[in-house]
Amino acid sequence: MKIFKFGGASTKDAESIKNVVSVINQTGEKDLVVVVSAMGKITNALEEVVTDYFSEEGNFINSLSNVYDYHFNILNELFAASTHPIFSDLDKIFKNLRRFLENNKSKNHAFVYDQVVSFGEIISSTIISAYFSENGIKNTWLDVRQCIKTDANYRDANIDWEKTQQRISENVSPNGITVTQGFLGAEHTNNFTTTLGREGSDYTAAIFAYCLNAESVTIWKDVPGVLNADPRYFTQTQLYNHISYREAIELAFYGASVIHPKTLQPLQRKEIPLFVKSFLNPTAPGTCVGKGVMLDPMVSSFILKKGQVLISLSSLDFSFMMEDNIGDVFKWLHEYKMKVELIQNSAISFSVCVDNKFNNLEPLLAKLREKFSVKWNENVTLYTIRHFNPTEVKALAENKNVLLKQESKETVQLVIKE
Ligand code: ADP
Ligand code: ASP
Ligand code: MG
Repeated sequence: MKIFKFGGASTKDAESIKNVVSVINQTGEKDLVVVVSAMGKITNALEEVVTDYFSEEGNFINSLSNVYDYHFNILNELFAASTHPIFSDLDKIFKNLRRFLENNKSKNHAFVYDQVVSFGEIISSTIISAYFSENGIKNTWLDVRQCIKTDANYRDANIDWEKTQQRISENVSPNGITVTQGFLGAEHTNNFTTTLGREGSDYTAAIFAYCLNAESVTIWKDVPGVLNADPRYFTQTQLYNHISYREAIELAFYGASVIHPKTLQPLQRKEIPLFVKSFLNPTAPGTCVGKGVMLDPMVSSFILKKGQVLISLSSLDFSFMMEDNIGDVFKWLHEYKMKVELIQNSAISFSVCVDNKFNNLEPLLAKLREKFSVKWNENVTLYTIRHFNPTEVKALAENKNVLLKQESKETVQLVIKE
């Protein structure tokens, strides 16, 4: 059996969902777990609902109705008559969401976020499962929260592998087609919904593959496979035919957003190959991540992360930046959930480039100012080049304001103020 994952881009409108059916039919696979994300940019739209809910007025009606309209427009295109049971099924799901928002008493932002944002995947999987049935693809809809068990670290939950393995073995048949949600889990004390971190559906696919000893995982994308640079920012890109697990982990870690960084470890442990393929050209080979050569073809890869923050610290009294000082810095970075991208230090200064994923910059800076002189730059871009050659680095840095550069044997990183 195999695992297929369809992300937001592959289900963003009625046409795209029709194409998903065509992909399944073209591959001819009969034993599948199909993991789906929320449609299009719906996770962002649901984040707006949460923001509005926590705003002073607390009026989430408009943002919620945007989400509602988006899905019902798709339903109207996919299903012939509004008498089809999917219309009332979806209506019920939206009523549950509204009921949660109206009755919730918790002020815990991350908890509320997960309860609300998770509806994106519940809705998309319900629509896709019904549309599969309508088109002769017999399938079982699975509530993934019965299977993926996590801790209660809302918005970035950690998998309880033992329980998850047990639940997947008990609840998922290796035969036939199962349609389920990416990105979601449930904490095991009260069964509240959790999420695995933004873009976490690839990771869900890998968890299923690991627990079911799947033959392979395929993630269907709007690109031909893994390219040597993000085509949104680079005009000339090359497709990798093959990438080793180790190299792919590095690329994902540095921010090649085509694969979620947590996806590869479980696959590597069981040597399950990961295919990255185009949903517009499903018979093309795409990229295989697996055992074997590091990169084929062996060309440098360019990774870019926008919207990062560069923080530079120096001691207030010109004392050295030693283990005790730096130890505090890391403790706070961890406390405020800043993802550290790059560090550099000298005798009296310490610079760190971070991803402010959870909007905690202000309180972190306040904390740092108690002990250090603090400078910072928001909205910087972090460029990483793996297997670089000096000409490429020079070309990239030309006419740019490079705030920091770091070079090792295989990797060069530049922090640039655009
Ligand atoms: P989905 O959420 O639909 O699964 P994503 O949007 O998360 O898909 O991932 C696909 C996107 O990743 C592409 O459209 C592309 O812009 C971006 N991307 C970033 N780096 C790369 C890369 N090295 N190769 C291919 N695509 C990349
Ligand atoms: N829908 C979630 C997100 O947009 C998970 C995913 O797409 O992988 O982050
Ligand atoms: Mg995505």
